[in-house]
Amino acid sequence: MRDFSSNHDALSINTATVRKQWALDRIIDECAHRKIRAISPWRDQVAKVGIDVIARKLKDAGIALSGYCRGGFFPAKDKAGLERALDDNRRAIDEAKLLNAPCLVLVVGSLPGALEGSPDYHDISRARQEVFDGIAKSLEYAREVGMPLAIEPLHPMQAADRACINTLEQALDICDRLDPEQSRALGVAVDLYHVWWDPKLEAQIARAGKNRLFAYHVCDWLTPTRDLVNDRGMMGDGVIELKKCRKWMEDAGYAGFSEVEIFSDYWWSQPGEHVLDTCIQRHREYV
Ligand code: ZN
Repeated sequence: MRDFSSNHDALSINTATVRKQWALDRIIDECAHRKIRAISPWRDQVAKVGIDVIARKLKDAGIALSGYCRGGFFPAKDKAGLERALDDNRRAIDEAKLLNAPCLVLVVGSLPGALEGSPDYHDISRARQEVFDGIAKSLEYAREVGMPLAIEPLHPMQAADRACINTLEQALDICDRLDPEQSRALGVAVDLYHVWWDPKLEAQIARAGKNRLFAYHVCDWLTPTRDLVNDRGMMGDGVIELKKCRKWMEDAGYAGFSEVEIFSDYWWSQPGEHVLDTCIQRHREYV
């Protein structure tokens, strides 16, 4: 297993971690200043500054992407909605390509309208079918332009509103159906916040192997957790066995970045400089 204790070469920052403190251009400057070698930005953060500005800034700073957030949200109440979702995913793929991302991360969606508080239907099987069809169609375009798609399973507490794919096993079953030859066009993003609890985690990481392991997201699980989305912990403050999980990833052949992704009202209230410095220190000690 790689030794992270003496440098942070393998650290990537998911830019949601300091989204309330800074715009994306400033985040890139602050990461470059700390010799952080990779980030994973969100589409809205990119759009706010302008994608051409961001592409140039990344190049000048020598900062790579560890992923691009995000595509997905495929289900919809009608045909027009399904088409709109596919169009939006094509645009996300184009943006990921322009920014030279190694993959586009998919948060696949679930019952349409649920996030806004009024689901258009209650049939989660239908949502799963629409997700499968949406990934299949997006994959055709993604293959054409050469942009790998990474399915991110989300914790089951978010099964109604954000993602009806909730385990690594479920995500890999879809990969096996749509990309049986393991061409590296379709794989998974393993976000420990969502999957750390899964009794099949070790076996499913081994099953995925290096042809399917596209991204690795870390933070920690606080006890108690006070918010379903915005109470993620800093590495070392919670109960996730981070090093054990990284060993499983590396034993399976993963050699990429560890991407710190923390949605947290607490960390958003701290100075951005302090958050990034803490990420570096905890990455060396706990990840
Ligand atoms: Zn994630």
